[in-house]
Amino acid sequence: MNNYASPLQELAQAATFLLPPPTITGNRWAAEYRVLSQEDSSAAGRWNPNARPYQNEILDVATDLTTERVSVMGASQWGKTQVLLCICGYFIHIDPGPMMVVNPTVGAVENWSKTRFTPMVRDCPELRTLVSDQKSRDSSNTILNKRFPGGLLVGVGANAPTGLAAQPIRILLMDEVDRFPKKGAGTEGDSRKLAEARTADFRWSKKIYECSSPTIQGESNIDDSYQRSDKREWWVDCPHCGHRQTLSFWNVVWQDRQSLADAFYACSGGGCLITEPELRRAVRQGRWIAARPDVKGHAGFYVPGIMVKPMAELAKGFLEAKDAGPQELQVFYNTQLGELWNLRMGEEVAVEGLLKRARESTYSSGIVPAGVGLLVASVDNQSSPQRLEFLVRGFGVGGEKWTIQHVVIPGNLALAEVWDRLQELILQPWPRQDGGRPMRIKACALDIGGNFTGEVYKFCKRKMLAGIAHPVKGATKPQAKIIRRSNKRSRMFLVDGVAAKDTIYACLKIDKPGFGYQHFPNDTDQVYFEQLFAEKPCHRAGVRAYERVPSDAPNEILDLHVYCDAAQAIWGTPRDWAALVAKAAEKPTQQEETMDQPDLPEEDAPEPLPVETTPAPAAAVRVIRPKGRPAPQATTTLAAGIPLANLQGGAGGSGGSGAW
Ligand SMILES: [Zn+2]
Repeated sequence: MNNYASPLQELAQAATFLLPPPTITGNRWAAEYRVLSQEDSSAAGRWNPNARPYQNEILDVATDLTTERVSVMGASQWGKTQVLLCICGYFIHIDPGPMMVVNPTVGAVENWSKTRFTPMVRDCPELRTLVSDQKSRDSSNTILNKRFPGGLLVGVGANAPTGLAAQPIRILLMDEVDRFPKKGAGTEGDSRKLAEARTADFRWSKKIYECSSPTIQGESNIDDSYQRSDKREWWVDCPHCGHRQTLSFWNVVWQDRQSLADAFYACSGGGCLITEPELRRAVRQGRWIAARPDVKGHAGFYVPGIMVKPMAELAKGFLEAKDAGPQELQVFYNTQLGELWNLRMGEEVAVEGLLKRARESTYSSGIVPAGVGLLVASVDNQSSPQRLEFLVRGFGVGGEKWTIQHVVIPGNLALAEVWDRLQELILQPWPRQDGGRPMRIKACALDIGGNFTGEVYKFCKRKMLAGIAHPVKGATKPQAKIIRRSNKRSRMFLVDGVAAKDTIYACLKIDKPGFGYQHFPNDTDQVYFEQLFAEKPCHRAGVRAYERVPSDAPNEILDLHVYCDAAQAIWGTPRDWAALVAKAAEKPTQQEETMDQPDLPEEDAPEPLPVETTPAPAAAVRVIRPKGRPAPQATTTLAAGIPLANLQGGAGGSGGSGAW
């Protein structure tokens, strides 16, 4: 049929001539020889090839002579451990040679050997006679080193470089490749590539089998492999209209949280409603179809969660993960659905969640709520368009923080008037919601980065701002504390942005007011949160860092948060936050009210304000939106939780369910 030859086909052909023909397929071997052990299976006893029919073809190509590489991407619980054990058993019994099993860590592969592999050998008579007992005098068999006639099986952790660079290997079995350490084993590069290099000596008879649940879009090893394979998917026929389709969780529909047990699968052909038992029957009668049958020698299988898990269980898991936050939702996507997670989805979920939090907030911008004991501020200068970005934040007991106001001051930064306006903002009193004395900003950190370093230094030297305005700069290396003086005599502080961002993102996940909780005024817009989530952690030359996603995303708000934390650190940690908060909440005496004087403590009190610089209300400052960012969405879309379309967009779902 196919008159074209490819190198892989040539190799495959050569392999069939060089090796004795197999006497049995992997699937037949499992049915005949595999006995499931009591401790690792709910259905101990003989292997049943009809229980999960989709496993049969995976077993066959994983053990045949013509498929060099097999990549299986799927949700957890599709039976991957049992399939891997069957493949081990087949090669030990039928086609022995040097084998290597790689798990993400040494501990994981040791555990696999003890709790999975050893029971299989014990319970399968044919294997028991081949693999000698570890406890016997034969010292050639250890937990990670099993010998048998014609070969050996070594267990290796992807985190241990020495194991990966050992002897030549013909059969390489890699489990959970997406959990292999990112930087690979030590400094020697990608652990997957290292392991694969071991198979080079067996050009015509090697077998590389890898399986995993996927991780993040663009960073997933298993997705990368699957995309280059012949891409087999499990097709099922609709029991009602016969429409042939692949399955996706996004086609599951339900009425409400109370009736998940009655969830249906919406047929993507005629929209027929398929019940759970009907769906399971259809899955059992399905078959693998390759999307790219022209790709030879590399079989890829995709097992989505919906193929192996009840609809109600997935729906429940989805709703719980959605409520719990982006991190939990990513785990659900990866392990339960077997789908890639798009980092943008996490950002959308987080932005939605914080917008909802802000809407429910009981204070507006410019007002200091009860609980705040200290006010600090930060300033960032930006060149296009020229402007100062100013953020005021309140600090309370246990790291609880409040955004008080974000102000943008546009104007030519070479001129004094913009800086004068900033000075007014820094020195103005901020009213308290509980009627306590209006508060003053105690410390303000100004980033000297950007094109206006000189202006920032000059501003910080203003007499009126003595003890309040501090020039700061991002540190290039991790440091013990979030801030340190660049040298003993310098006024400038270096800020450890990575440590600060770690804390900021960790605190944003706290969902109960109190320790570490972050408050936002009820008029906060979406752009604020988009900028707050503009970065994600990464590694740069082996050092932890943060990078923007996408690379040109505005991130001023995140930087301002970092510098507010720096300002607080520069001001210092009070001996007793609770006492500070209590003092701040004290009502002004009548005399104070008539005098309208600030309550500055003596030690850092600036000179009294000249009358002509009495600040204008903060709201008079125009807050401009950075270019190219969408206007905030109407709040009505937020009440229902995550808009489904947003979530599905990145996942390629076709769904039509509106049940959530
Ligand atoms: Zn149908």
